[in-house]
Amino acid sequence: MTDTLTPQVRKSRIVVICSGGLDSVTLLYYALSKTRDVHVASFDYGQRHAIELEHAARLCADLELDHEIIDLTRLQPLLRSTLTFVGDVPEGHYAADNMSQTVVPNRNAIMLACAYGWASSLEADSLWVGAHAGDHPIYPDCREEFFVALNRAFELGSNLKSPPKLSAPFVLMSKKQIVELGAHFGVPFERTWSCYKGSSQPLGQGKHCGRCGTCVERAESFSLAGVPDPTPYEDSNYWKAVTHG
Ligand SMILES: [Zn+2]
Repeated sequence: MTDTLTPQVRKSRIVVICSGGLDSVTLLYYALSKTRDVHVASFDYGQRHAIELEHAARLCADLELDHEIIDLTRLQPLLRSTLTFVGDVPEGHYAADNMSQTVVPNRNAIMLACAYGWASSLEADSLWVGAHAGDHPIYPDCREEFFVALNRAFELGSNLKSPPKLSAPFVLMSKKQIVELGAHFGVPFERTWSCYKGSSQPLGQGKHCGRCGTCVERAESFSLAGVPDPTPYEDSNYWKAVTHG
């Protein structure tokens, strides 16, 4: 991992959207393998699992990266989702119908528009987002065609000669492959947060529930990748029952 974090001659400037979760932290390490000129955006939209932002902040501080937590909390009561405290977070596998309750309406377009403005101001070469193939069935705004169309819209709206390119490097990858890539880069998985139920415990002391969609997917992906899962779960066996793992 050391070689990828050693300061390099500038190749490009990348703005990475990082929630503090496994996928976007791996994306961050992937960006750092290409350049040290990485800037990180996180979003506070009043999400139930705001503890993820503390994980993002701790990692960025450790890596001495420019990190902005963009405050969108005024939107929280306007965005109807279990992640913004409307009802309870559903449990089970992502394929389950009720998992659509975790959609936050238009979340990616909202966040990407904000981050694209920052990336443009920084005259960054690209803006990276960590959506992956496993997100596609539930979240339409994590699909490749959405990002291609949005990138085109951003280009059309830009006054820059070389507008930042919106890129989703993991969009065709499974979460298993992301875990494999993260292991390759030495991502400190235990310092990432996925669970949609959040935690009221201080940073580093909370447990993932092990039962919500993203916990199930996380545990399953470590198993499929053959990578030891360092995540403390309240229920560490539930994922096997719902994924036949
Ligand atoms: Zn959970």
